[in-house]
Amino acid sequence: MSLLIALDDGHGMNTKGKKSPYIKDLNRVVKENEFNREVVQQLNKLLKKCGFSTLLVAPGDEDVPLAVRTNLANQAGADAYISVHYNAFDGSFNGTNPSGIEIYVYPGHLNKKAGRLAHCIGESLKQGTKQKYRGIKEADFHVLRETSMPAVLTESGFMDHPKEALLMVDKQFQSETAIEHAKGICNYFNVPFHEKGKEDNQSWYIGRRVESIYPGDLRFYQSPSWKDQEVAGQVQKGYGFPEIIALVTVSGFSQYKVKNSKGQVFYITAHEKYVKVV
Ligand SMILES: [Zn+2]
Repeated sequence: MSLLIALDDGHGMNTKGKKSPYIKDLNRVVKENEFNREVVQQLNKLLKKCGFSTLLVAPGDEDVPLAVRTNLANQAGADAYISVHYNAFDGSFNGTNPSGIEIYVYPGHLNKKAGRLAHCIGESLKQGTKQKYRGIKEADFHVLRETSMPAVLTESGFMDHPKEALLMVDKQFQSETAIEHAKGICNYFNVPFHEKGKEDNQSWYIGRRVESIYPGDLRFYQSPSWKDQEVAGQVQKGYGFPEIIALVTVSGFSQYKVKNSKGQVFYITAHEKYVKVV
């Protein structure tokens, strides 16, 4: 059975007070949920590609009561609970404008599973866009207290910091944040992270043997090329390479990128007239 991750996008779209101050450059305010929801939606897709099951505890735009969210996760027996938020200090761009990333766990859980999960996500969130890392903190939040699995709440920036407010609607930053959450979760559960998804990295031929069915000498190459000077050798019918590591296109024709028994990498035609995968 796959691991189940409960995903919580924080608030409803119109939850009172959960918005940035008026942003001149955008000529509007940004609602916290615009960011949270986008990150959760992307995170949901990424986690599924990595083989997780997911549970969206507040999938719509309305503000689902916190108890409903945590009950859903508890009843489903989720293996982790991730609540995605954006921070606020005083709701104004005036005065002090703290910035940066914070992650919360329930008091006393820094050295427990939630703390380790928070650490994995934090180490990942530190990458990418340069932001202050404010660290892992403890708080008696409902979603951290009432969940029966390791639970963390992330704050990927401050809505009332001028630069970080703009990041909320930055597509690049939204994707980066989703990927960083996914990488952290994968790391915690020791699951390889596949950004492109299982289908792309685990095509049927990957890891399998390819051999020549051509009644003669079949060339293989030291680089993805068809050029004579790149020929590394020839194989005869029934001979080949023990492992295909990728399929590449060279001047419109497919080659398998392969490894021999010594781990050396070569390229050979993928045309079914010349080779078969066994
Ligand atoms: Zn929030």
